[in-house]
Amino acid sequence: KDEQQPLHILFFPFLAPGHLIPVADMAALFAARGVRCSILTTSANAAVIRSAVDRANDSFRGSGGGLAIDLVVVPFPDVGLPPGAESGTALSSQEDRDRFFLAIMRLREPFDRFLSENRADAVVVGSFFRWAAEAAAEHSVPHLGFLGTSVFARSCTNSVVCNNPMEAAPEDPDAVVTLPGLPHRVELRRSQMMDPKKRPDHWELLKSINSASQRSFGELFNSFHELEPDYVEHYRTTLGRRSWLVGPVALANKDAAVRGTSELSPDADGYLRWLDAKPHGSVVYVSFGTLSSFSPAEMRELARGLDLSGRNFVWVINGADADASEWMPEGFPQLISPRGERGLTIQGWAPQMLILNHPAVGGFVTHCGWNSTLEAVTAGVPLVTWPRYADQFYNEKLITEVLKVGVGVGSMDFASKLENRRVVIGGEVVAGAIGRVMGEGEEGEAIRKKAAELGAKARGALEKGGSSYDDVGRLMDELMARRSSFNV
Ligand code: UDP
Repeated sequence: KDEQQPLHILFFPFLAPGHLIPVADMAALFAARGVRCSILTTSANAAVIRSAVDRANDSFRGSGGGLAIDLVVVPFPDVGLPPGAESGTALSSQEDRDRFFLAIMRLREPFDRFLSENRADAVVVGSFFRWAAEAAAEHSVPHLGFLGTSVFARSCTNSVVCNNPMEAAPEDPDAVVTLPGLPHRVELRRSQMMDPKKRPDHWELLKSINSASQRSFGELFNSFHELEPDYVEHYRTTLGRRSWLVGPVALANKDAAVRGTSELSPDADGYLRWLDAKPHGSVVYVSFGTLSSFSPAEMRELARGLDLSGRNFVWVINGADADASEWMPEGFPQLISPRGERGLTIQGWAPQMLILNHPAVGGFVTHCGWNSTLEAVTAGVPLVTWPRYADQFYNEKLITEVLKVGVGVGSMDFASKLENRRVVIGGEVVAGAIGRVMGEGEEGEAIRKKAAELGAKARGALEKGGSSYDDVGRLMDELMARRSSFNV
């Protein structure tokens, strides 16, 4: 009988690690509830998530089931991009970005083919695939958007896109812009926001994502109700957007902490042994995700800041920032392993979930990418916020002003990778922010207490009867009901 067949969901994440990783985890989470999951992606992008998918399948097999997640790998469209440019991370020129955009358009073809050949009860698609809602409608499959950010940030974007508050604000980069219609007073500096006049293409993209989300079946969020209840209420009730919060997805399988080890991070054991030797809460972890790069001057100040903070540190250095001769301050090599004991630098992929959950880690200097933010919240680790672009300035507001689990370094410049126009943040400022979060004194204590409380709530959300557990169940019920009504 049809109702006895498990639900089948096709996931098609946007081509960047910050989207692929949570979607793979999300699929594991649905699979654990008996949903058949397929993830469609291209070969280089499959490599980023293959170990997470294998692990989900292993644990599923162990519990007596079949394959939990089917990875459907299609070739990356031939648009003249160099090998390795299969994700949005390695694009350094406008020409390459145009080519990447063309590839995104052409990926409709394998998506359509999959839906012609397989029956799916829903598609969960990266919202940057603008054609996906229409394609899903043609196949009569419910379309769920996934943008990989918080409900808070989506609410902020909605406010900005619908009201364009920058239009009336003075041109001064320091001018304060208030985002209308939100549950709290949210204010940003003009320089912290994307300027629609300078980036009309991005502005159009945000507008079209916004209107698509109103027409589709709904949206999935890697978040949980207790984290941002006022904004969930605002988004669902005031704005009327159907949405399900199913996170923190990084907890999808209990071994998720292992994510990113093995092939991606072969030296992970060594990093953890290094942490084992450090006192509880004494280490600050520093990482800016997969896309951010720093100028040599910024790197030098950050290195100085870590030195001045007096704390132990683990610093993940991106490939693009790796030429140490350009920035490393005098004396710094003596601080870091193997010559020194205070710091460890990681070049390449860090096992971030394992590091954040290590008891020695007591703070996280972050660019406020949503995955990193939520992973820290889940681990109960307080934050030093250093946003760079996209939703990161909104996430900083959520962290420092709404949740009060972090302190900012005062970064002011919204800059895409292509526009290098940032003010360099001094080492003293970095050290000061680390001290406020990790040091003695009332402020640090309050922040750490709040972070620990939120961590416990995050873990509770996915337990049986928790808010995210129930949202997954509600979505499954709706999809099953829809299938039955179609079959009448
Ligand atoms: N990540 C990791 N090791 C690294 C760099 C990143 O495990 O060395 C993971 C991190 O845990 C997070 C994701 O990659 O899940 C980055 O997503 P985020 O939203 O924080 O930032 P983005 O890279 O999208 O800017």
